[in-house]
Amino acid sequence: MQKKISIIAKDILSLQKVWQAKNVIKGLINKTPLVYSPILSSITGKNIYLKYEHMHESGAFKMRGAANALLQLSPKEKTIGVTTFSTGNHGLAVAHIAKKLGIRAVICVSTRVPYSKLDRIKELGAELEIYGEGQDDAELRCYQLEQEQGLKVIPPFDHLDVIAGQGTIALELLEDLPSIDCVIGGLSGGGLLSGIGLVMKTTNPNIAVLGLSMEKGAVMHASLKAGNPVVLNEYNTLADSLLGGLGMNNSYTFPLIKEYIDQSALVSEETIAKGMALLYKHHHIIVEGAAAIGVGAIADRIINIPGQTIAIIISGCNVDLDSHYQAILPYISDKNNLIF
Ligand SMILES: *Cc1c(COP(=O)(O)O)cnc(C)c1O
Repeated sequence: MQKKISIIAKDILSLQKVWQAKNVIKGLINKTPLVYSPILSSITGKNIYLKYEHMHESGAFKMRGAANALLQLSPKEKTIGVTTFSTGNHGLAVAHIAKKLGIRAVICVSTRVPYSKLDRIKELGAELEIYGEGQDDAELRCYQLEQEQGLKVIPPFDHLDVIAGQGTIALELLEDLPSIDCVIGGLSGGGLLSGIGLVMKTTNPNIAVLGLSMEKGAVMHASLKAGNPVVLNEYNTLADSLLGGLGMNNSYTFPLIKEYIDQSALVSEETIAKGMALLYKHHHIIVEGAAAIGVGAIADRIINIPGQTIAIIISGCNVDLDSHYQAILPYISDKNNLIF
């Protein structure tokens, strides 16, 4: 049985918490560049900007939330350490921040997670706890470690300090682009767009927030449609950072996303690959599928974008070069120059 969610979004998290987060993380997190995109602007007839969130040390925006959560631990909690169950960009972010702060970090993973992914976490000095067959087992182990050793669990998205940390992206956008009409980003657990949505909508309700997911296994999209969190199977996708459920007892991101998102849409694998190819060819950046989803959707004209001044969150670059090359190949040779 899913827990009934009846919380009002504005009572969950305030804009003030995001401003506090900006101040808390400033020593560890650099402001990221906002880059004008001539190609996307000419495709759409609008002013399109890219927020380069792949330029953090861990290769994704999740450094912001992890920094805000870890820096707000009590001295005792810092001494004991933290644990998390994400193997993707959040796990890496926690490992990076823990290393910088000299905090013990245990990353729980299932036996399914490939060794290549685990190497980077180990290199950062975080401990790995390998347990069970899937992500739910890893999550379970994480909460066991909290019980057994007092380690503090830092969830990947459903945590107020994490959401507030991600929201600092929107403060930077408002500073650099005060006339912004619309933000577009990838949508998975919803930490990214909860934080951004909160800042944008409380600042100016006319700023639109659009969330994009891959076609298969888009849990937040399906949950919004159903009216409550649902569980779906996972499928292979170029946007692997958008995989995963909403957590066993989602408390924050589902109600926040429900309140703050204007539109949630699904994007095909082909369109995601085109986004990666466009960014490679015209902006000379190598980014992962989850980060290229908005660019692909615009290039393929599959979403209606409100307003004239648009920012797309380029959320991460953690993709191996072989997979990246395979994905973009059909779209970068001259012969097959389908869209640009
Ligand atoms: C985590 C992540 C997202 C989605 O963020 P949520 O807070 O889970 O919605 C998008 N892109 C990248 C690269 C990510 O790592």
